[in-house]
Amino acid sequence: MNSEPIVEIKGVSKTFTDSHNNVHALTNVDLEFWPSTFNVIIGPSGCGKSTLLYLVAGFETPTTGQVILNGEEVKEPGPDRGFVFQDYALFPWRTVLGNITFGLTNNGWKRKEAIERAREYIRLMNLEGFENAFPHTLSGGMKQRVGIARALAYDPLVLLMDEPFGALDAQTRKYMQQELVRIWQETKKTVLFITHSVIEAVYLADRIVVMTARPGQVKGIVDVDLPRPRNYTGDDYLEVREKVLSLLEEEVAKGIKDSLASDNTLFTD
Ligand code: ADP
Repeated sequence: MNSEPIVEIKGVSKTFTDSHNNVHALTNVDLEFWPSTFNVIIGPSGCGKSTLLYLVAGFETPTTGQVILNGEEVKEPGPDRGFVFQDYALFPWRTVLGNITFGLTNNGWKRKEAIERAREYIRLMNLEGFENAFPHTLSGGMKQRVGIARALAYDPLVLLMDEPFGALDAQTRKYMQQELVRIWQETKKTVLFITHSVIEAVYLADRIVVMTARPGQVKGIVDVDLPRPRNYTGDDYLEVREKVLSLLEEEVAKGIKDSLASDNTLFTD
């Protein structure tokens, strides 16, 4: 890589403390992510994936170590990071347009400019015609399109996605994966994307970070040098998938293989 990393995780550990015990969510994580790359973080439930993303988002602070974004230490959330949640986290009382403009106007944008910007991302996400719809009238896939449009509307440096397709049915999930690749290729954002699905990881990623079971550490990194658009079944695809699986320890691999089994519906086209 000849450019500087846009996100650096330097010696990061995170321990949550309550009145009874300490939960070591992450230990000694060192990672670098380069501009305009699609990075997937994979690992079993509870290994600290969301915590890692929250640290980059600035929702949490590290117990030790630092998160550096574009050369500066992350101390709090900011519009240079867009966040997409698994459960969409849309405002139910706002329309599609209102959900996308809300953060912009709250950050000082003039209403007219916020609406123009929102319409741009409504077009990008194929949401035209749904500007005035309320979230409860939308399918899961449509809601997540709004979630992605809202995150991108700030034109952030980094797009943070926490299992964004985890709540979708298999067909919609596959479609959203294709859509996300299209959007990423158009916007060239740096993406950090969490999943527990190896199938999804290998379809999307330039680079897959495999985490160990809690306390989460980096088990290994797999570069995915497959041309796009990818399919889910080619020999080269399956080879990378095996590489990711083999990086995981037995109990970790079991968790992943379970989810793999349930994701096999992705093949039923
Ligand atoms: P993952 O996203 O890989 O499923 P998380 O990052 O959500 O894992 O959680 C890692 C561990 O940290 C889990 O054991 C979880 O219960 C714990 N944890 C996460 N957030 C908190 C919190 N705010 N307070 C206490 N424990 C937490």
